[in-house]
Amino acid sequence: MASQSEKRVHIATFGCQMNAYDSARMAGMLAQMGYAQVERPDQADLIVLNTCSVRHRAEEKVYSYVGELKRLKRERPWLLIGVGGCVAQQEGDSLLKRLPHLDFVFGPDALGSLPEMVTQAARGKRLALTSLGAPARPVDIIIPAEPGLKAMVTVMTGCDNFCSYCVVPYVRGRERSRTAGEILEEVAALVDAGVREITLLGQNVNSYRDPDGGLDFAGLLARVDQIKDLWRIRFTTSHPKDLGQGLTEALAGLDKVMEQLHLPAQSGSDRMLKAMNRGYTRAQYLDLVRRLREMVPQVALGGDIIVGFPGETRQDFEQTLSMLEEVGYDFLYSFKYSDRPFTRAGRLEGKLDDETKGRRLVELQALQRVLGLQEHQAQAGRVEEVLVEGPAKHGQGLMSGRSRAGRVVNFPGPPELAGRLAMVRITQGRENSLLGELASATGER
Ligand code: SF4
Repeated sequence: MASQSEKRVHIATFGCQMNAYDSARMAGMLAQMGYAQVERPDQADLIVLNTCSVRHRAEEKVYSYVGELKRLKRERPWLLIGVGGCVAQQEGDSLLKRLPHLDFVFGPDALGSLPEMVTQAARGKRLALTSLGAPARPVDIIIPAEPGLKAMVTVMTGCDNFCSYCVVPYVRGRERSRTAGEILEEVAALVDAGVREITLLGQNVNSYRDPDGGLDFAGLLARVDQIKDLWRIRFTTSHPKDLGQGLTEALAGLDKVMEQLHLPAQSGSDRMLKAMNRGYTRAQYLDLVRRLREMVPQVALGGDIIVGFPGETRQDFEQTLSMLEEVGYDFLYSFKYSDRPFTRAGRLEGKLDDETKGRRLVELQALQRVLGLQEHQAQAGRVEEVLVEGPAKHGQGLMSGRSRAGRVVNFPGPPELAGRLAMVRITQGRENSLLGELASATGER
């Protein structure tokens, strides 16, 4: 068994950026207990899974991963295994009953209790902490030892929208915003540690309200914008029904707020949008996009689409395809509908077979590849400000970074540019990136 000073943890993260953020906080708390992070589960004395149940496939992956850990536990009987995140919240202590090799289970609200759970589990106790909405034990602001150029900061958790297909309100609970003071403190500490780009996270950032004074999300952006030595701000996700004028003005007017917006539509058919309980029509969504583009012409839009929602006809699906053409998304996350526990859609009639859903998904993604390429090709000739992250993954001598709109830009340049801003003339648009050449002097803001 490992001694105190040699403790090692492997954290396996599934799902969204919120989970990635929570995993970083888990790593920080465990580091304070003397746990160093390791890459592989077979090197660890403690394995923590941070799970996702938003889609059926994501949940299946979690179960197959947990199943494989049984062998490790047999070989290393001192190994502790904990499951956190949305699957933990959804299944509660039934997970402990079903999977005897698990030591503890904790929902997203119990994150702050992780050190205590590890201590108890090491004493041989098996426990589950999954009550939602209970006052969460606060997690100290934890700045990683090597934070890099970019970091995420959660501004709110949970969701009150109850889209009919979505499990989030049941596993993440109702909306709760962090105070602006706490958020600003965390961003400032990250910037002091060298971070230059912050992504503010929430299931629906437009519902943000500072519990200490009522500041809204546009107001919060204005405050974050004033933090010295921070260069770039992004945020995700925005619910179209809540995207107001204030936020559009912040996108247009605040220099550090990047021209990128993730605005999930989910469908282009009014019938489906109603059944999904999305709270807007196709015309309202398209009107929002038109107004946004008027005020922020360079904005790059991202979307989410669900294909094969119960009752979706070929006609409904074609309306989604035509909406893709009207909007011109820069990037698109698309998924086949799957039943989720607790949800209204799970009880609807008119479920589509997997083959039809699969065919529609392939068709939609093929169209998006063409449209996304057109969006990228239209960037040729522009000069873009790029935050250079380091050498490109592919292509010798190329450096890589992101434009203000969030597009990957690769260009020939010296390695010393890493961590700096460069002006790059775009020469070619490709499917997933842009190619360019260094245009002018580089530096900091
Ligand atoms: S807005 Fe809808 S899809 Fe998004 S998290 Fe809330 S309930 Fe789920």
